[in-house]
Amino acid sequence: MSSDVFFADARSRSGNNLFTKIKNLFEAANLKDVFKKDDFVALKVHFGEPGNLGYVKPNLIRQIVEKIKEYKAHPFLTDTNTLYVGQRSNAINHIKSAIENGFAYSVVNAPIIIADGLTGKEYYEVEINQNYFKTVKIGGAIHHSDSIIVVSHFKGHEATGFGGTLKNLGMGSGSRSGKQMMHSDILPTIEIEKCNACAKCIRWCPANAIQVFKDNNQKYAKIDEKKCIGCGECTVTCNYRAIAINWKEEADVLQKKIVEYAYGVLKNKENQAGYFNFLLDITPDCDCTSWNDIPFVNDIGIMASKDPVAIDQAGVDIVNQKIGLEGRLTENLKAGEDKFRSIHKNINWEVQLEYAEKLKLGSRKYNLIEV
Ligand code: SF4
Ligand code: SF4
Repeated sequence: MSSDVFFADARSRSGNNLFTKIKNLFEAANLKDVFKKDDFVALKVHFGEPGNLGYVKPNLIRQIVEKIKEYKAHPFLTDTNTLYVGQRSNAINHIKSAIENGFAYSVVNAPIIIADGLTGKEYYEVEINQNYFKTVKIGGAIHHSDSIIVVSHFKGHEATGFGGTLKNLGMGSGSRSGKQMMHSDILPTIEIEKCNACAKCIRWCPANAIQVFKDNNQKYAKIDEKKCIGCGECTVTCNYRAIAINWKEEADVLQKKIVEYAYGVLKNKENQAGYFNFLLDITPDCDCTSWNDIPFVNDIGIMASKDPVAIDQAGVDIVNQKIGLEGRLTENLKAGEDKFRSIHKNINWEVQLEYAEKLKLGSRKYNLIEV
C-alpha cells in the first residue's frame, strides 16, 4: 500500500513563505492526529555540531512548535548525546551548543531536554527481539514522551549514504552506549598507558567484567572478555579516553541496526509519530562534523508524512531527479542519476529502506502530494 507524503517546494512568495508552508504541511499531513491535548510531544531534532551550518534552523522548527501548542499539547526539543567526544557528548555541552546554534527558548518557544540525560546513561531498554538486538537503549525522554515528531535535515551521509528520518530516529534516539553497539560488535579493550585506575568504569559495568590490576607499580583496569557482554557502557564512561570507541561496523549492518533502533522507538508509539524532512542545504555529509561542504543539489523543499519509510524514499528520489551541483559531486550530475552513491561510493543506501519496510515500519511506495 502507498503512503501519502506531502511536499512544499522551497520557493518563497509573498504571503506564502517557508513558515506558512511548514504550517500548511502540518495540517495537510494531519500531524495533529499523532498527539492529544496535554501530551508531551518530543520534537526529535539535531542541534548541529558547532561549526556545521547544515542543520534545520531553529526559526523553522518554531513553526512546528507553534502548531503543537495550538492543539494544546506540550512540545519539547530533544536529541541524545553523541558517542564521539565533540561538543554534544554530555547534556551540559549539548545544551550549550544548541543555544549557540540559535535554539534558545526565546527563538524556538519550547524547552530543550537531552533525552539520555547528563552523561548518556538515562535510557530505557526496550525489548524488540530482532536480528541484531534483543533490546535497544532509547533515550529516556524520547521513550517516555507520549508522541514524537521527527524533524530531519535530509542530506548525504558518510556512513549510511543518505541521512533522513530513519537515521535521525534510529541512531539519534539511541543512548551513547546504544550508539556504540550500533557502530561495532567488537568488545572494548582498555589502553593501559591512559588508564589511571580510577575505577569509574568498574562501577558502571553491568557484567562485573572489569578489575583493577597492579603490575610493576602501575595500576590499571582490565576487561575480562569471558564476562564482557559488549554493552558499551564502559566506553562512554571513561573520562580519560582509555577505552577506545570502536567505529568498525559495515555500512549494511549499521543501517539495519539503525532501523532496529527506530523500531524500538516506535514500539510504544503506534499512530503517535509524524515526520518532517527538510530538503534544504542538501550537504554531502552528516551534521555531526564541525564543518559542512556546499550542497550538491539546490534547495528542493519540505516533506511531511506519517510514514518514516515513504518520506525517506521520496526524499532520495526527488534529490536524484535533480541536476547535481559541482563540488563534492563530480559525476552522476545528470537528473535521474544517483547522487548519493556517487558521493559515498561503497554505500548501498537502499539497505535502510528495504530493512525498514521488512520490519513493517512503513512503505517504500508513496503518493507525493503537493501542498
Ligand atoms: S574509567 Fe578509564 S581511567 Fe578509570 S579505571 Fe576505567 S579505564 Fe581506567
Ligand atoms: S562493554 Fe559492558 S560488559 Fe563489557 S566491560 Fe564494558 S561495561 Fe562491562
